[in-house]
Amino acid sequence: MRTEIKNHFFDVIIIGSGVSGSVMAYELGKKGLNCLMLEAGEFFSRSNFPKKEIDGNSKLYWSGGAEFNQTANLALLRPKVVGGGSIVNQALLDRFDQNAWDDFKRNSGVNFFDQDKMSEWYQKAEQGVNQEVIPAEFRNKNAQIFADGFKANGFECAPLNRAQKNCRYSEGNDCIECLSGCKIDSKQSMLITYIKESLKQGLKLLSKFEVDQIEDKGDKVLVHGRHYKSQRKSFSCRKLVLAAGAIGNSKLLQNSNWKLPAIGHHFYTHPQFMVLGEFKEDILAHKGPFQAMKSADAGFRKKGFKLENVFAPPVGLSMLFKGFGHEHMQLMKRIKKMACIEVAVRDTQPGKISFKKGKLKIIKTLNEEDKKRRNAGIEAIEKIFSSQGAVAIHQGNLPIGLHLMGGCRIGQDDRNSVVNPEFQLHNSKNIFVADSSIFPSAPGINPSLTIMALSKKAAQGMVL
Ligand SMILES: Cc1cc2nc3c(=O)[nH]c(=O)nc-3n(C[C@H](O)[C@H](O)[C@H](O)COP(=O)(O)OP(=O)(O)OC[C@H]3O[C@@H](n4cnc5c(N)ncnc54)[C@H](O)[C@@H]3O)c2cc1C
Repeated sequence: MRTEIKNHFFDVIIIGSGVSGSVMAYELGKKGLNCLMLEAGEFFSRSNFPKKEIDGNSKLYWSGGAEFNQTANLALLRPKVVGGGSIVNQALLDRFDQNAWDDFKRNSGVNFFDQDKMSEWYQKAEQGVNQEVIPAEFRNKNAQIFADGFKANGFECAPLNRAQKNCRYSEGNDCIECLSGCKIDSKQSMLITYIKESLKQGLKLLSKFEVDQIEDKGDKVLVHGRHYKSQRKSFSCRKLVLAAGAIGNSKLLQNSNWKLPAIGHHFYTHPQFMVLGEFKEDILAHKGPFQAMKSADAGFRKKGFKLENVFAPPVGLSMLFKGFGHEHMQLMKRIKKMACIEVAVRDTQPGKISFKKGKLKIIKTLNEEDKKRRNAGIEAIEKIFSSQGAVAIHQGNLPIGLHLMGGCRIGQDDRNSVVNPEFQLHNSKNIFVADSSIFPSAPGINPSLTIMALSKKAAQGMVL
């Protein structure tokens, strides 16, 4: 969106247009505040979302598709587009259970981290997006293998709750396409929900503007950055919302020489390992609604992992298969015979994001406990595929971090946290954060709905 921004002073500036930034913009706009949203990514809509997977990767993500941890054995997918993660994500919405809230409370000392206390905020968040499950008659073969394999092994599963509306399955849509932006505006991304409503309320949105520095002057906050290929520009505001995500916020605060020792620490990703079961017959896991089922097994939750029925487009899959040349090509030729289940680990080993001299360095490894959780998940997947007649099982080469959390964790103590329970930076009453960066630990549950709920709560408490 190439809006000309004539005004340089705003009530509120919001950095990042993803899940948190969009909800905050909507709530603050509703209060009649004059808001500016700055987003590094491009503004796409259903008419011009990238059509090819390879273009989707390069145009909708930072660093051309994937970033890596320091040891290059974990790929991190960080969205860069108006709407942030809600454009590329799988649109799965889950409320946290009490176990996740107890863990958050233990790690932060924040009192409202509780299922009952958060219930009203979840309800408010849910009002802005339509939710559906995929009807059983439309599940594809991959989902059926998942459901049947769970049943055969005595595991509990359930339909995935999705942010979507009228996917028109009967018309033969292949929903895997929506990972590069939904072309029929069925996915309830921020773009067609909270951002759309915010623009009607008067939100100014500048896309392709990357903020590189912020300064709190006490009576106002200065925001500096660069619009795509143009000169450096500054805006100012009374209050600032940081909604650039775990890596974005950590990077920005470090580049601004912010003095809080915990910035960039306590970084979690729910590392996800895809496991493919090869069958004699065609599975066509990419056809139709490609993701319908999840594990709902209390035993899995206790062991620290969850399983989801997933698939990926060919470029993504090619990164997972081992081998080179002929061996790799043979595997790729057989992908239509493959079903896929992913294990997502509730990681316990905190990582660290640092940004020095223009370079991002991410330290993130699996400790023995995390490996145990991964192995327990893979073992369950192997049982599921074997019970359904798989002829071979291929473990993905490369884990992926899709849920990037922490780096500016919330807490009471400014020595080991960055944001206070009122969602302000410990050392600034003017700067607010409620996005994935404030997570104090890994919940082991899809984070978006909770980010929306926390953002609703933060926006309500913001007083100018
Ligand atoms: C492939 C994929 C699938 C996923 N599936 C699910 C799912 O099914 N369910 C679920 O709950 N979660 C899912 N997630 C995770 C979910 O999308 C994220 O947790 C969520 O988007 C985080 O919200 P956020 O507001 O913290 O940041 P984001 O939504 O990532 O938004 C941050 C925005 O800030 C912008 N930004 C960063 N730095 C700057 C800067 N310096 N200047 C200007 N702009 C900046 C970014 O470009 C980005 O658009 C998935 C993620 C991926 C990548």
